Parts: sequence; structure tokens; C-alpha cells
Amino acid sequence: MKLLVNFSRGKGRKPIIAQVVRDTGVLINVERAVIDSSEGEALIDVPDDQCKLVSDTMISLGARVHILEHSVSLDESECVDCGACISICPREVFSFDPEWKLSLDEKRCVLCGKCVDACPSHALTTPV
Ligand code: SF4
Ligand code: SF4
Repeated sequence: MKLLVNFSRGKGRKPIIAQVVRDTGVLINVERAVIDSSEGEALIDVPDDQCKLVSDTMISLGARVHILEHSVSLDESECVDCGACISICPREVFSFDPEWKLSLDEKRCVLCGKCVDACPSHALTTPV
């Protein structure tokens, strides 16, 4: 399960992801992070059955957590199978099936948004 975590990094604050790994024992896969001196946003991936534990622990440490049930979504009625999303996606989420229809491996998505901007048919959306 993917979680989008926003946190502040004020003076004296401990690194939140490292702290949650230590406190919960859950291994966290950081898929994308933007962090500056005052705040950070990270997309993390954790095992489904430990999602609530990680989320609750992060919230108790002052973070805002958004649990992402889905990553990128395709509106098949709008897709024209042009392949633009295949070219631009850095994570190889998209491919053509043997009938040249677009297929998705949603779990690989890191919600960068590049495909949403690139799709000429507005067939792709992300939850954030
Ligand atoms: S860019 Fe849009 S229209 Fe083209 S294959 Fe991807 S989802 Fe379909
Ligand atoms: S949001 Fe980024 S990683 Fe996800 S499918 Fe689109 S281009 Fe690929």
C-alpha cells in the first residue's frame, strides 16, 4: 500500500521515516521524496497489513498521511491506445498487450504525474 506523507522538519526534529522504521520494525520503501530544510513530502510503500501501524505512528509524530488506495487510473473509454504514456513513464507502468491495447501495472506507479500531462485524451488521472 502506498502512503503520501507530509511532515515538517523544524529544528531539533528527528528524521520521521527513520524513526518510524525503528519504532515499528516495518521496512519502508521510499519511492519518491521532496525534502527541504523546513518540510518534506514522501511517497512510501509498505506491506498492506502494516499500513495502519505505519500510518498511525507517523500521525503520532506529527505527519499528515494520505493512504492511496489507487495510483494511476485509466478511463478506457477515452484511451486511444496511442502509446504516449508508455514513452514518458519512468517506471514502465504501461505496455501494450498482444492485441495492442494499453495495459497497466499500477503497483509500479510513483505518482509523478508525467503521463497525466502527456495523455492527449485526458484518459489518465492520479489521486494526488
Ligand atoms: S497516452 Fe492516453 S490515450 Fe495514449 S495510450 Fe496512454 S492513456 Fe491511452
Ligand atoms: S504517474 Fe508517473 S509513474 Fe505513475 S504511471 Fe504516470 S508517468 Fe508512470
